[in-house]
Order: sequence, then structure tokens, then C-alpha cells
Amino acid sequence: MINYKDLGLVNTREMFKKAVDGGYAIPAFNFNNMEQLQAIVMAAAETKSPVILQVSKGARQYANQTLLRYMAEGAVEYAKELGWEKPQIVLHLDHGDSFETCKSCIDMGFSSVMIDGSHLPYDENVALTKKVVEYAHQFDVTVEGELGVLAGVEDEVSAEESHYTKPEEVVDFVTKTGCDSLAISIGTSHGAFKFTPEQCTLDPQTGRLVPPPLAFDVLKAIEEQLPGFPIVLHGSSSVPQDEVDTINKYGGALKAAVGIPEEQLREASKSAVCKINIDSDSRLAMTAAVREVFAQKPAEFDPRKYLGPARDNMKKLYIHKIVNVLGSNDKA
Ligand SMILES: [Zn+2]
Repeated sequence: MINYKDLGLVNTREMFKKAVDGGYAIPAFNFNNMEQLQAIVMAAAETKSPVILQVSKGARQYANQTLLRYMAEGAVEYAKELGWEKPQIVLHLDHGDSFETCKSCIDMGFSSVMIDGSHLPYDENVALTKKVVEYAHQFDVTVEGELGVLAGVEDEVSAEESHYTKPEEVVDFVTKTGCDSLAISIGTSHGAFKFTPEQCTLDPQTGRLVPPPLAFDVLKAIEEQLPGFPIVLHGSSSVPQDEVDTINKYGGALKAAVGIPEEQLREASKSAVCKINIDSDSRLAMTAAVREVFAQKPAEFDPRKYLGPARDNMKKLYIHKIVNVLGSNDKA
């Protein structure tokens, strides 16, 4: 049993309170390899932004849970080395699927976990979330629950269609479970293909697909029910068109990839939304940089020569998100 405090990590409680009061959102970036982690830590340290390092169940399987845990511990030390005196870094389980997965993460030093019971009948979601909260709070680990279903596919999480969170359920859910934050569904979705072309309109000026707007009326209704309570948005990549274009230019085949416009995420950040999950955009930035090197320097075979540019490109993306979308810079 390792407590996250011994690793120099923090939970989300203070961080979210400040973010809700201050009208900004904390970035939650997924990682499963060294270059991603380096890019996240460098970006957070340079901008002095609190940051949530997210690990999905798939990432734990891919990279090994023990290794990931030590990487997160290393991230705190690395951040200090970069001149960030008191790093505000959370290690968070993304989409915990069972009490056992959550418990195992808590026992290994995670400072925050998500229990995703959103696919279950309401009462079962309440019971499962409550069980995780009761265990987690003994160790001051914070818990994210979810109500409503997001569409899309990412790792092991998938759903055909989305169901918006019902504002009339949120008070009952939060009261009964004791969760510290709530992930909601208002039209964001997982993956790089968030919308079909039929769901979008065509911008005649740019020729790009414009997705349907987020359901800000649902967000507002939820905020009225739960004033000041931390709200989380999953599936909030914007799918930068320049990265998609680079990928396609150098042999990729990502047609009609569409994300959430950054203006809408910026608007959401100013509300009770205090955690925004971004994963696909980093995947795109990494893939674009690697493809470009492979296409332009086909004789290159030193991994540092393509993973280095990939890291630089991800770092640039993370800084952009922190400063221009979430507004979390200079908050840690
Ligand atoms: Zn998610």
C-alpha cells in the first residue's frame, strides 16, 4: 500500500475548488509512454499549470501499471528539476470499470480515480460509485463519477450513441455517492471521429465540417442544480485540422475526423467545468510528427529522431491547450 502523498502527488479537491472559483479548467492529459509524459510535464512546468496525468485501463495494460506508477512519481521529481517548486500533479485513473480496478490504483499511489458506472442502471451506478468513494476517501483519494453516456470509441470505452446527463438526477447522485466531481454528457464524445459528416454542417469559407454545438443549456441546468460542484468533460479533443492534414499529406488516412471546437471548450472552462479530458489531440500531434519524419527522412532509424519531434509537437499542443483553451496557466 502506497499513499500518493508519499509520491509528491496531490488529489483534485483544492485544485478543482480554485478552478471553479477562478473560471478556468484543469487539463487532464492521458499518457502511456515516456515522450508523452515528458511533454506534459514540460508544458505544465513552463506554464505553471496544475495538471492531471490520466491513465486508462488500456494504458495500464499497455505500459504496465507498476512502471506507470513510477513514471508518475518521476514526473513530480522531473517537474521540480524544471524549476517548478511545488508541482501540482494528480495521478488519475481514467474510466475505472470496477471497484477492484479503482482499489488497486488507490493502493498503488493514485491520488484520484474515476469510477465509470454510466452504462449501468442508475441504482447500480449509485451503489458502485458509493462503494469506491467509501474506500477512496479513507486515503483522501478523490473520486469522479459519471452520469449520462458519451458516444464514440476510445480504448475499451465505446458507445453507439450519446445520452445527455439528466439534470434532475445530479443532486441525488452526488448526495448518495459522495463523489468529488461529476463527468457529464453534453455532446462531447470519445475519439477522433466524434461526428458523422451528416451530423455536421459545411463551412463554405474553409470547406471544413462544423460539428453540432455542445448542449450548454444542459450544462447550465446542471450548474443550477449543483452550484459550484466540479464538473468534468470527457472526449474534449478538438482534432486540430493542421495535424490531420499533416497525417494525410504523409500517407495517413484520416478522413472526416472532427472534434469539439476550441471556442466551445473555452466557454465551458469558464463555468463549473473544471477538468477537461484531452487524449486524441496528443495522439494526432504525435502521429503527425512521426509521419513527417518518416516521409521526409526515410533513411532515419534512430527512434530519438522521430520521437523527439513527436515530443516537441505534443508539448506545443499541451501549451496551446493550457494557455489558449483552458486558462490554467499561472495557477500553480
Ligand atoms: Zn472518457
